[in-house]
Amino acid sequence: MNLIFLGPPGAGKGTQTKKLIEEFGFIHLSTGDILRQLIRSRDTLGLQAQIYMDQGKLVPDGLILEMIQTKMEKKCGYIFDGFPRTIDQASALDKIVPVDHVVYLFLSHDVILKRLTGRRVCEKCGKEYHIEFMPSSLKDSCELCKGRLYQREDDRPFVIENRLSVYEKQTKPLLEYYHEKLIRIEACGNVLSIDQENIKKIGLSTHKAMSQCCS
Ligand code: AMP
Repeated sequence: MNLIFLGPPGAGKGTQTKKLIEEFGFIHLSTGDILRQLIRSRDTLGLQAQIYMDQGKLVPDGLILEMIQTKMEKKCGYIFDGFPRTIDQASALDKIVPVDHVVYLFLSHDVILKRLTGRRVCEKCGKEYHIEFMPSSLKDSCELCKGRLYQREDDRPFVIENRLSVYEKQTKPLLEYYHEKLIRIEACGNVLSIDQENIKKIGLSTHKAMSQCCS
């Protein structure tokens, strides 16, 4: 089975996929995380992408597709997080693997803004915190690796507005593209109840998670 997590920036796509990954063994493919990792390691593709990311724009489809293909070794068992983000990316993905369900996480504009402006990320390991909802017990350092916590360039208020308008124009049309596979989940509740809703609506079992699209 392959799943896509779709939703505006700040919907918690990464957070909501964690349980599915731990419990059912999905492989998490977050294009945002992969890009940030490439930037940290000063990779050429990452540095090219950073120019777009810092402005809240989408990285060109060609770069994203090249990157995602190098990460995919099999046909199923993936959770795509933050990918696809355009119709062209979606139709390219259709040619690589089948998509079983698309989980659409939705929430209000105010909650999105609060989540994004308060987010802090560890510069070493990438773990995310929130100054209000999930602060680090070590204040400005990461609880896991003691790395410094920073605010993503694209989580600054004027860039956030740009990301949200890019989402409306370029990514939201995917709701129509995937309308037959769409599972809608309101993403402002607690992680546990959203997880349970997810698992129930997808009708997940370990066997199904790992086998369905390969059969
Ligand atoms: P995210 O962590 O998913 O919010 O992504 C952060 C930024 O990375 C986005 O604002 C884009 O600039 C870039 N990005 C991530 N995934 C994609 C994608 N599938 N297509 C284009 N740009 C992307």
